[in-house]
Amino acid sequence: MKNPFEKMPTVLTADELIDKAFRRAERAASAYNPPGGKVAKARQREELRVRTVSNVVRDNLRKILDRTPGVSTLPKFYQELVDTLVDRDQFHKSLARVNWAVKTIRNLEQRHVEKIRFERDPKEIAKLRRAFYGRVADILHEIDDDLRYLNQARNVLKELPVVDLELPTVVIAGHPNVGKSTLLRALTNARPEVASYPFTTKGINVGQFEEHYLKYQVIDTPGLLDRPLSERNEVEKQAILALKHLGDVIVYIFDPSEYCGFPIEEQMHLFEEILREFGEFPFIVAINKVDIADEEKVKAVEEFVRSTGLEPVKISALTGEGLEELKKRVIEIVEPKARELAKKIMEKELSKFRGEL
Ligand code: GDP
Repeated sequence: MKNPFEKMPTVLTADELIDKAFRRAERAASAYNPPGGKVAKARQREELRVRTVSNVVRDNLRKILDRTPGVSTLPKFYQELVDTLVDRDQFHKSLARVNWAVKTIRNLEQRHVEKIRFERDPKEIAKLRRAFYGRVADILHEIDDDLRYLNQARNVLKELPVVDLELPTVVIAGHPNVGKSTLLRALTNARPEVASYPFTTKGINVGQFEEHYLKYQVIDTPGLLDRPLSERNEVEKQAILALKHLGDVIVYIFDPSEYCGFPIEEQMHLFEEILREFGEFPFIVAINKVDIADEEKVKAVEEFVRSTGLEPVKISALTGEGLEELKKRVIEIVEPKARELAKKIMEKELSKFRGEL
């Protein structure tokens, strides 16, 4: 899935939009030389001005409405993320006010054009047009805060990470520097920093791999699953909630070499927290950096992991040792979902094919 807000246009401020519409109307009117006498000419020119201002403003505002998806229509993952970034109520209220402005300006246009058509005095005709301009400017100023809010929201919503919500997804967790992104790169085609991620400054890493024609997605979220819960702010907690709608299995990484800077006791503690928080998820534990770690430390971690009822996999993300075994364990868990998806895609293709015959 693409970023759902990808098509949302830049939202102009009231003054920018007024300026654009009035200029456009002036250009149209000066290029227009209608037939008839002085009054007929004035009437047609002013009508053109009114229509042009109304069209430019309404087209601009309607484009915002048409290209912004309703948050509640989005998949849960995106709904939760949107809630970390914008106030959903305010967002919808602002959109509703833009909609109100479109309708109100349309009504005003009709009323002023009718009056202009009945008016015989060129001065009065110009006055009607000016009155219309004034009303449009007032309405736009009235929704100026909403326009500014929508533009700010747009700028952050466009940064939402692009992930495939249908693919079976592995979420990698563990302290910083334990080797998460190295593992992601070793398992997948990912280049670092594939998508930006506004909740942390570090970006989200997304990669995919294929096995027996089935596709899997691996995600590493620096800043989210690498610290104790007590150190996370509300926004991060919400982003973690969003991850729950995306992940199918958690791969937790230990670094028994402690080169990451966190003693193994601390790593065990974080593991217990994440295990508690993602209790409903299947877990795989990988003990990384076995190429450089002390055997004793590796053993200590192994025993600890076994005491939680899980069997760890020893790997080196750097040398590739153990990665086939890790992949096998991941696939064992998520393959049914990958098969289900492949079946769905194939059936869709087949029905297209049958329909075309
Ligand atoms: P992240 O912060 O968890 O994503 O950690 P990185 O993937 O950036 O790895 C941190 C450091 O550990 C880097 O210098 C990696 O090269 C190194 N590293 C990662 N995996 C291994 C491994 O299996 N063996 C060794 N020797 N170094 C590793």
